[in-house]
Amino acid sequence: MSLAEVLHDLGEVIFPFRCLGCDDLIDQGSGRLFCPSCAVKVHFIRGSLCDICGTTFPDSSAENHLCGECLEKKPFFSRARAIFSYEDVILNAIHQFKYKNNLSIGEMLASFMADFSFPGMDLTGYTLIVPVPLHIKRLRERGFNQSLVLARAVGKKRQIPVDFSVLKRHRYTQTQTGYHKQERKQNIRGAFEVHNAEKISGQTILLIDDVFTTGATVNECAKVLIRAGAREVSVLTLARVLPHHFNARSADE
Ligand SMILES: [Zn+2]
Ligand SMILES: [Zn+2]
Repeated sequence: MSLAEVLHDLGEVIFPFRCLGCDDLIDQGSGRLFCPSCAVKVHFIRGSLCDICGTTFPDSSAENHLCGECLEKKPFFSRARAIFSYEDVILNAIHQFKYKNNLSIGEMLASFMADFSFPGMDLTGYTLIVPVPLHIKRLRERGFNQSLVLARAVGKKRQIPVDFSVLKRHRYTQTQTGYHKQERKQNIRGAFEVHNAEKISGQTILLIDDVFTTGATVNECAKVLIRAGAREVSVLTLARVLPHHFNARSADE
């Protein structure tokens, strides 16, 4: 067996080349996550954005500018960017990963995230990656932290160290599903704490989560990281709930 064949077989094992949306086989080596009929249901975040929180504006021909919320009260993170709109096949793929324990979908999404060029984000200046932590109780239920899977892939690709022990979720919070924005903020307040603050002192941190819903969770994380001495915190997520899609019932955080 030639080396190429061995690598090919390994590739089959690591990347089954099945569409994340419908499980159909897709072209090998195409680097795609979806078959053509699912791909049209994948919505990338594009057009004009809020420079800080990354929300989109309906008039996509406008220049990037700050949204009303960021103008009124700046979040603790400097900027947040996501790849996909959290709907359709992407929502299903993330649910398969997160709630149905489908780690091969998780690995594919993670590797896509690691290779993705986030518009307006130069990842070279970041010194530490921190995944949004799960409470130990939820970690035991789920068996893994989906944000850490993503963080590890990005860290490896970008050669940025990942630390999953500096930020802890010490208060168990009920799922955010069903809560509106203000309730989410209150529900999450005080849920996180920093351990070994000297490890984050002066660091430029990339905080990684799977979904940005209202931003309440990542903002609370950014708050405790900044207060513990981080120089700057930016946020990357796989997907984001766009404001016109926000539905407190369907969106988890
Ligand atoms: Zn498909
Ligand atoms: Zn904004």
